[in-house]
Amino acid sequence: MAPPDDLAAVAPAEPTAAPRARRSRAWWIVGLVVFGLLIQLPNPFEELFWGSFAPRRIDRPSIPDGERRAASAERLVLLISFDGLAKTVLERHMPSTIADLVRDGSVAAFANDLSDSTLESHGVTISSQPAEESGFSAHTYRPWSRFRGPTIFTVCAREGLRCALLVGKAKLAALVAREPGCERFEYLRDPGRGGSGRQVLDATLAYIRERDPDFVMVHLPDIDVVGHRSGWGSDPQLEALTVLDVALRDFLVAASMATSRHLAILISADHGGYGRSHREGRPEVSQVPWILWGDGIPHGLIAAEVSQLDTAPTVAALLGVATPREWRGQNRVPVAPATAPSR
Ligand SMILES: [Zn+2]
Repeated sequence: MAPPDDLAAVAPAEPTAAPRARRSRAWWIVGLVVFGLLIQLPNPFEELFWGSFAPRRIDRPSIPDGERRAASAERLVLLISFDGLAKTVLERHMPSTIADLVRDGSVAAFANDLSDSTLESHGVTISSQPAEESGFSAHTYRPWSRFRGPTIFTVCAREGLRCALLVGKAKLAALVAREPGCERFEYLRDPGRGGSGRQVLDATLAYIRERDPDFVMVHLPDIDVVGHRSGWGSDPQLEALTVLDVALRDFLVAASMATSRHLAILISADHGGYGRSHREGRPEVSQVPWILWGDGIPHGLIAAEVSQLDTAPTVAALLGVATPREWRGQNRVPVAPATAPSR
């Protein structure tokens, strides 16, 4: 029996069109899976992709002068993070500005950092909690990253302090994307190949002159950038440290002139490094400098073993505010009131 005319017309097309549609659907699925993996697994494209969502600058309504905490008038606290500065690198080459701060300040033999990733490690620093506890465990910018507990900037909001974060890596925006206590966030691009440390310090100085803040966290990327290119402890990295140290001296002189308060400075790092990387598990990565300098801060070596968790509680003590109970570290230096006027 012959098939009806309409069926005979449709039947020959089916074996070619349906497999083609299936094939194209399969390619879409493969493409989506590859894209999904590319933006999930650590790789340069993933950093670039998520980094494109990171804000370059955040300006929030500032606390009016009349509502600022009276006690905050005493000190301007600067937390200066030298990205990638290993204790071993500073032992090989101690540049003059850092040497002066070491001579006159309170210094730990080293501080133990808890993460080998720049973003996560800075998260540990400002939250005084390991990443598993704080919930902030990203190595690159993710729009949904957040802390479960309070950070230094949460304390700024609670206490009426004027605070800011200025950085040389865009992904660090994740630290303050949800922190109303950070009045200004600014990312300074690297105009050359060595890192934007001087640009970050210049912008910090401009911010201090403009806003008279209580606390500024400053991130200097240079040592890490040159380390990845030329190696930890290499001549180019030691040279970058010298250049950054000169910029630091210029900045500190200008900052002390720009504020009527006493400067208190805490210098540390997010991680060290060896070879051309900084994977954890070695003391060259986990041991970083911890140098505290300023009026009312005693001179000498800190006997206790210092951890990165102690940075935020020490900053809180310098600012004269209480440490949140969620924080795991403790203030490592007996801070006296700043006495004489700074100028
Ligand atoms: Zn690095």
